[in-house]
Amino acid sequence: MIPYGKQDISQADIDAVVAVLESDFLTQGPMVPRFEQVVADHVGARHAVAVNSATSALHIACLALDLGPGDWLWTSPVTFVASANCGLYCGASVDFVDIDPATYNLCPKALRTKLEQARVEGRLPKVVVAVHLCGQPCDMAAIGELAQEYGFRVIEDASHAIGGKYQGEFIGNGRHSDITVFSFHPVKIVTTAEGGMALTNDDQLANRLNLLRSHGITRDPALMTHEPDGPWYYQQVDLGFNYRMTELQGALGVSQMSRLDQYVARRHELARRYDDLLAHLPVTTPWQHSDSYSGLHLYVVRLQLDKISASHRQVFERLRDGGIGVNLHYIPVHLQPWYRQLGFRAGQFPEAERYYAEAISLPLFPTMTTEEQHEVVQALEEALEQ
Ligand SMILES: *Cc1c(COP(=O)(O)O)cnc(C)c1O
Repeated sequence: MIPYGKQDISQADIDAVVAVLESDFLTQGPMVPRFEQVVADHVGARHAVAVNSATSALHIACLALDLGPGDWLWTSPVTFVASANCGLYCGASVDFVDIDPATYNLCPKALRTKLEQARVEGRLPKVVVAVHLCGQPCDMAAIGELAQEYGFRVIEDASHAIGGKYQGEFIGNGRHSDITVFSFHPVKIVTTAEGGMALTNDDQLANRLNLLRSHGITRDPALMTHEPDGPWYYQQVDLGFNYRMTELQGALGVSQMSRLDQYVARRHELARRYDDLLAHLPVTTPWQHSDSYSGLHLYVVRLQLDKISASHRQVFERLRDGGIGVNLHYIPVHLQPWYRQLGFRAGQFPEAERYYAEAISLPLFPTMTTEEQHEVVQALEEALEQ
C-alpha cells in the first residue's frame, strides 16, 4: 500500500533522540526550548510554546483567549474534529462557516454574512479558528479585518501549513491572528511523533500558554501572588494541565526542522507533477493562490461525478483495493454524531457537503518516488474509466 502520508526519519534524527536518552533530562531540559526557538525564528513569531499535540495547543489557545461558557467559537466544517472540539472543551458553543468552493477554506464572504446576522442576534463569536486546509493559507487579511470590525480573536489552525507562506511571509508570524497552532503528528509536514505548538507575538498570551501547559504552576516570582517562601517555592496560579512535550520529541523536532524547507519544496515538486499527469482526467486538481505558498500537507482531488459513471465511493474503493492508500480529509465536522446531537444536521453547510461527496486525498509525502506517483495516477485513471 502506498500511504497517503509518511514521515521521513533520518540517521541524524535517530542520533538526536538517542543523545537525549543518554542525557540527564528526558523532560523539562534544554531541547524543548531549543525546538521552540528554532520554530519561532523560522516563522518569525516572538513566542512559541511546545506541547504534546496540536489538540492540546488548540485547547490552551482557547483558554488563553478566555473562551468559556456562554461564548461562541466558529470554524470551518471541513477540518479535523480538534479544530472545533477545543471550543467544547472550554464549555463554549461551536458553530461553523461554510467553505469557499475554490480554496476549501472557511469563506470570508460567508463569514461576513454570518457575522452581520450574529450581531443582530447578539451572538457574535469570541474566537474564530481559521484552518489552512491542505496547507493552503486562508484569506487571513480578510479574516483579520473582520476580527477588528466585529471584535473576535483569531486562532490559525496551521496543522497542515508549517513551512508555507501567506503573501510572502511564513505562516505562524501572527500578522493577522492572535495564536497559530502547528501539529507534529507523523503524517504532518515535520514530526515529533506526537506534538504541537502554539505561537504568538503577545507576551501575556505566551505567559498564559506557558502556565496552562504545565498545571498552571509558575516558578517566576513576577507571576506569584507574594514573595516566594523560599528557594523550593512554586505557585499554582491557574488551572492548567500536563500538556508538556518530552525532550526526545524536542530533539526530534529540532532535527526535523533542518529539513522543513526541503520537505515543502519536494511536496510542491510532486504536486506540480500530479497537476500535469491528472490534467486530462475528470478530476479537479487543487487551486493555488498566486500570492501564497502552500505547505501542501495534502493533495486533494475532487471527482467530476457528472463526467464519470462510477460513484465517489466506488472510485475510492478501487484505489484502496489497488494498493493506493487514499484518504478523505475530512468528513464535515457538523455531520459527526457528537455534533448532530448538539443540533447540527445535513444541508446546513452545502459547499462543505458537496466537497465531502467528491474529495479524495492522493498519496503525497517527500520520499514518494516517481514510480509510486505514476502508480497512483495509473490506478486513478483505471478507477475512473470503469
Ligand atoms: C492533525 C490535526 C489536528 C490535531 O493534531 P494533533 O497533533 O494530532 O493533536 C488539528 N487540526 C487539524 C486541521 C489537523 O489536521
